[in-house]
Amino acid sequence: MSHLDPEQIALIALGEPASDDDTAHLAACADCSLELAELRRTVLVGKSTLGMGGLETPPDRVWDRIVAEIDEAGVPVAAVDSAPVADTGRSDGGADTKRDASPRRTLSKMLFTLAASAAVILAVVGTWALVRPAEVVEVASASLLAFPDHPGAEGSAVVVEGEDGEKLVRVELDDDEPTDGFREVWLITADATAIVSLGILEGSEGEFAVPEDVDLRDYVLVDISQEPQDGDPTHSGDSIVRGELDFA
Ligand SMILES: [Zn+2]
Repeated sequence: MSHLDPEQIALIALGEPASDDDTAHLAACADCSLELAELRRTVLVGKSTLGMGGLETPPDRVWDRIVAEIDEAGVPVAAVDSAPVADTGRSDGGADTKRDASPRRTLSKMLFTLAASAAVILAVVGTWALVRPAEVVEVASASLLAFPDHPGAEGSAVVVEGEDGEKLVRVELDDDEPTDGFREVWLITADATAIVSLGILEGSEGEFAVPEDVDLRDYVLVDISQEPQDGDPTHSGDSIVRGELDFA
């Protein structure tokens, strides 16, 4: 029996439905099913660790970097674009089935060729890791409302979590700059029995790391206070705005 076209295996690995014939062959042929499993893992690794969302549509600059990497690694890139799929010595090699030039199809050829070389895959993954934007996820937000002594003030807070698990509070405050003293950002528990300073707010916005031992589920209030230059590190009691975090 002839094996599946390698390109067909690549397409199935990318998520295209397999035909009944292909499915039957995969069930019966250890070689092809193993190849499919390995390609699927490649696709999965690419998707899950890179957060690219869609492998089919990487930005141009990413492709440029990838092609450059492949070039360096000595894989003939031209072959990926124009030649029939890499000859594994066991494809039936027959009828040059209609090959359209859709990006998806081109990519599947690319993937298959890449899969032939673990070193190239690693180079590609490394490149993706370099060029992808850092992933941050918004985990909570709050509207900060004015206290009576600061009419007209308003602000907002957003908590984001980076890939390393570190949480950051980004605050914005719309209020007149104080003529003296400074403004400080705080996290306070709902019952106001505990408070922690995040730091001094310079200007109208700032970003503050949440201390590791502070659980935001307890410290749900974000507060910005007006502080005098009195050397006292505690909260002045003069809050400008405050709001409760709403978790996504
Ligand atoms: Zn087979």
